[in-house]
Amino acid sequence: TLVMMAADENEEMRSLELSGQVGFNSLPHQVVRKLVSQGFCFNILCVGETGIGKSTLINTLFNTTFENEEADHYEREVKLRSQTYELQEHTVKLKLTIVHTVGFGDQINKDESCKPILDYIEAQFEKYLEEELKIKRSLSNYDDTRIHICLYFIAPTGHTLKSLDLVMMKNLDSKVNIIPIIAKADIMSKTDLGNLKKKIMTELQSYGVQIYQFPNEDEEVGEINSSLNARLPFAVVGSTEDVKIGNRMVKARSYPWGAVQVENEEHCDFVHLREMLLRVNMDDLREQTHSRHYELYRCCKLQEMGFKDTDPDSQSFSLQEMYEAKRREFFKELQHREESMRQMFVNKVKETEAELKEKEKELHERFEVLKRMHQEEKRNLEEKRRELEEEMNAFNRRKVAAETLMGQALQGCSQQ
Ligand code: GDP
Repeated sequence: TLVMMAADENEEMRSLELSGQVGFNSLPHQVVRKLVSQGFCFNILCVGETGIGKSTLINTLFNTTFENEEADHYEREVKLRSQTYELQEHTVKLKLTIVHTVGFGDQINKDESCKPILDYIEAQFEKYLEEELKIKRSLSNYDDTRIHICLYFIAPTGHTLKSLDLVMMKNLDSKVNIIPIIAKADIMSKTDLGNLKKKIMTELQSYGVQIYQFPNEDEEVGEINSSLNARLPFAVVGSTEDVKIGNRMVKARSYPWGAVQVENEEHCDFVHLREMLLRVNMDDLREQTHSRHYELYRCCKLQEMGFKDTDPDSQSFSLQEMYEAKRREFFKELQHREESMRQMFVNKVKETEAELKEKEKELHERFEVLKRMHQEEKRNLEEKRRELEEEMNAFNRRKVAAETLMGQALQGCSQQ
């Protein structure tokens, strides 16, 4: 059916029958081809204490061995370590980023455990928003690092959730899709596991923690997703070890009394987790991240920055208004800064002038002292010169007298 837009807005849209093949029914194929050639990205955040089985589960999920340093229990703070891998399944390329929370739950004081994780998630949103707000943006080939799913690993040891888990999930739920999973489920009995699952779900509900809900409105996946929702939290077992069961090799953990098969529905929920995460809802997780979590972040951030949506009642163009307001604010700020810099300059000049005057006064005083000393010295020298002259005169007088006396004496001798 060809739908034509009428030129006049008041006219209704009309449906037209095509008399032959036009070709735009290939549009979905064109979209798929383009998307496949671009490749996809998927970013997983694993939150859970050290040694709970995060790396093993991720390796089991993707049927490979990702390099991951084994963490000790002595980290002073929670750090996030991300690693990116290029995977390919048939013609589909996937850029997979796995983010591990190193040192989570290892500190005695756990107050600061949440912050680095929340900061990391927000930093990825911020990066995306910055790209979106650029004049020349390139979102189609943007290296998207926003977290699409947070696998929250719950220890199989307690009767219910630890307070750290509740606080952490409550803080995370508006920022990321959370899938709670009970790790190392093989160490619990069937009854204990059933009770723990129920308790966790009741607790999450009573604290208002929003975990990811598999979409069940869709015709194709609605049924399977409804059954997945009922299985939450997934109780999983991870293992990359191949064990021979009968005449088949399967992924399992072997114990003296038998083997726990990772992919056996009777043994754990691993296949359901894989089904939901990779086969059924990967796109929905990506979509929810963008339309729900990122949208919320973007909305708050833009409001913080002073953006407002156009009010349909007022005819004003709010972006223009906002721009003008920001411009005025900027110029006011600039003027203010200019004025304060000018004032600072004047003060500095005044200060320097006063300092120079003070120095001049000091110099003058020193000059006066030196002048006085010089005059004093000159006077003393004059005095000495006068004394010497007097001495010389006296000496000369005595010399003349002596010479006269000597002359008379010589005369007397020659007469005799
Ligand atoms: P991470 O520090 O959370 O990444 O934990 P690892 O994946 O390195 O696992 C820590 C230890 O737990 C290893 O000895 C694993 O063999 C073991 N482990 C991992 N998954 C399971 C599981 O499902 N059940 C049991 N019983 N042990 C597991």
